[in-house]
Amino acid sequence: MNIGIVGLGLIGGSLGLDLRSHGHQVFGVSRKEETCQRAIARGAVDDASTSLTLMKNTDVVFICTPLGVMQATVEELIPHLSEDTVLTDVGSVKGWVVEAIAPLWANFVGGHPMAGTADSGIEAALRDLFVGTPYVLTPTETTPTRATQRVEEVVRPLQVQIYHCHPHDHDRAVAWISHLPVVVSASLIAACMGETNSTILELAQALASSGFRDTSRVGGGNPELGVMMASYNRAALVRSLHSYQGALNQMITWIEQEDWATLEVALKRIQAARPQFLR
Ligand code: NAP
Repeated sequence: MNIGIVGLGLIGGSLGLDLRSHGHQVFGVSRKEETCQRAIARGAVDDASTSLTLMKNTDVVFICTPLGVMQATVEELIPHLSEDTVLTDVGSVKGWVVEAIAPLWANFVGGHPMAGTADSGIEAALRDLFVGTPYVLTPTETTPTRATQRVEEVVRPLQVQIYHCHPHDHDRAVAWISHLPVVVSASLIAACMGETNSTILELAQALASSGFRDTSRVGGGNPELGVMMASYNRAALVRSLHSYQGALNQMITWIEQEDWATLEVALKRIQAARPQFLR
């Protein structure tokens, strides 16, 4: 198939690398000419341009820009598409994106590959980034079945696990397992930075090892993405944060009161629950 990718960064570039190796012709559009040239040099696209006219003969187009410019990008893209081109996106929030784009293009299917790294831009693109990871599609009652099937046909060979759900259910679920962890992890780093004794702070920085690396990873990632996810999934994220605050307050109370028995029961329950989130 002829595949279009708009936004040649971590996700767009990684999709390009994999889709080309599965025999598709990949055409990329990005904002900067330099990014287009790097995408060609890295083998992420067959051809690239800063002009959306390059999308004119595509069968499926993936919108891989930051969330904040997706709607404007699609409005600009539409005059260049043939009627049966299927449009999909990779945005980390689905309710807002689907509500903004579905009325503009009938053959639109919301999507979200649940894979990433802390890096961004075309240099961060990786082969096989999506192998073994969930790929969520959020068709609604008005999404043509053949459009959803075509996106599935393109992404399934990347060895992803395809899930279908309602856009708002997606947003509530990812608030728990993706957006809440970013805020919690960022707050952890911020709290550590608040140590006022410079000797202790330097010692903590020198001693930090794998535990801190794991727990701080998502909070120390791309700030632009963090702000986008918080602003576009605000309601679900705030709801999760209040619940988290309650859980944290509960832990503080048990520790302050030296209620080790209750704390141990809670930690055992938590230890048993964790694998259910990591299947
Ligand atoms: P990224 O690495 O920053 O890539 C986005 C690329 O879009 C930039 O490299 C930029 O390329 C290009 N761009 C920006 N504005 C544009 C415009 N107006 N027109 C065309 N291209 C434009 O970000 P990313 O991590 O790949 O994220 C992209 C999307 O994937 C986001 O919607 C995000 O929600 C979603 N997502 C991210 C992750 C993750 O973990 N990072 C995971 C799943 C989904 P130039 O260099 O040309 O400016």
